[in-house]
Amino acid sequence: MSECKDIAEEASNYIEGNLPLSKRLGLFFHLVWCKCCRNYLQQIRSTISTISVIRPRENDNTDTDDLAKKLRALSQQDSSD
Ligand SMILES: [Zn+2]
Repeated sequence: MSECKDIAEEASNYIEGNLPLSKRLGLFFHLVWCKCCRNYLQQIRSTISTISVIRPRENDNTDTDDLAKKLRALSQQDSSD
């Protein structure tokens, strides 16, 4: 049977699905009766989703950089008129 320390150790693996089924089931049954670990797992989940929100923004920066070049090229065309 899994204990609270097992949840703490395997929380990110559990969320990402990087665990064998037997281990997942052990953690799952612990979470069924342990509210404390459910809350803990919820915190980890929100942390992970915050990180995954930040990452696309980094990609957006390269897009805006490309967009800025296009806008600059357009404005240079305007000034030559
Ligand atoms: Zn627990």
